[in-house]
Amino acid sequence: MTAAYDTEALKTIIDTIRQRRDITLEQLSALLDTDDHSAIDYLRTQAREVAQSVYGNAVFMRGLIEFSNVCSNNCRYCGIRRDNTATERYRLNDDTILECCRMGYECGLRTFVLQSGEDGHYDDAHIVPLVQRIRAEFPDCAITLSLGERSRESYQKLFDAGANRYLLRHETADADHYAYLHPAEMSWEHRMQCLRNLRDIGYQVGAGFMVGSPGQTHETLFKDLQFIRTFKPEMCGIGPFIAAQNTPFAHEPNGSVERTLRLLSILRLLHPHVLLPATTALGTLNPFGRELGIQAGANVVMPNLSPTENRPKYSIYDGKICLGDDISHCRSCLESRIESVGYKMVVDRGDYKN
Ligand code: SAH
Repeated sequence: MTAAYDTEALKTIIDTIRQRRDITLEQLSALLDTDDHSAIDYLRTQAREVAQSVYGNAVFMRGLIEFSNVCSNNCRYCGIRRDNTATERYRLNDDTILECCRMGYECGLRTFVLQSGEDGHYDDAHIVPLVQRIRAEFPDCAITLSLGERSRESYQKLFDAGANRYLLRHETADADHYAYLHPAEMSWEHRMQCLRNLRDIGYQVGAGFMVGSPGQTHETLFKDLQFIRTFKPEMCGIGPFIAAQNTPFAHEPNGSVERTLRLLSILRLLHPHVLLPATTALGTLNPFGRELGIQAGANVVMPNLSPTENRPKYSIYDGKICLGDDISHCRSCLESRIESVGYKMVVDRGDYKN
């Protein structure tokens, strides 16, 4: 049984979270369980105000290059997991990746995110020269890597080669929940250690989690929020879980857009400076998901720079949007979406503001 809160009590909870930059499990449950629209409107308004106090009405773009869907991991939720033999695998060569960066640069992108499965083909000997080439050709751009778990030495080499940021979602801050989402060969401690290593080396770090992943509870979400509040990653990627075919979770229900939006707002109140993407997953479950994300306190969008023929194969979940649109189309589409809710997409690296 949860206590029933009236609008005023909920608004007081929201004010308290904003002032203290902290939340209790009870407060979280109250905000997740309520169907009080005026309280939720208030939550979103507060989150927008906080985001605007740090970043104004700027929304930053990150060009996502999904350069390999080969993966040696077997995450139970992920459509490109090792055991999904239905996925046709691909790898982009360095020249193609550079070409994606060039097209992105033309369109005003100043951050390139290189993401892949955990693909041993791209060992340090391969990826270090690639990062160096991108760094040399685009000195005014941020290079973000999202290659999964690697050794501290490898992270260091990539940083020295010119990478600035690293995205590695923690997936869940609860070790038992992590064990439910991943096979026994993967370790929650190791993933958390990777995040600490990245931070120590000097990367701007992105953590994050799915909303509505199987086994998620208010308690595990509470731990996620406490982790974000205390670790203070520069970025936090959250989007709804979306069932992927040919995975153990293929028949699990999708996460909720509404719940994702509330969590975006709460994250903004807990960590005012965080860079918070309105994710493609959010846009996949709701045609206006990304606009709603910005209105809930997000300030980043991630247009897809991958060659269109490869995009359907990077199928981490089903129904992913923007598969056929080239980058200039994606950019103008996102720009008008963002302007429609009163924000401005800027040509800028979009670094974390201290
Ligand atoms: N190999 C990299 C990139 C993984 S894909 C890594 O391990 O970091 C990027 C993110 O997509 C994952 O961290 C996960 O949170 C998210 N994701 C994977 N499967 C998903 C699904 N079915 N629904 C929603 N998000 C998913």
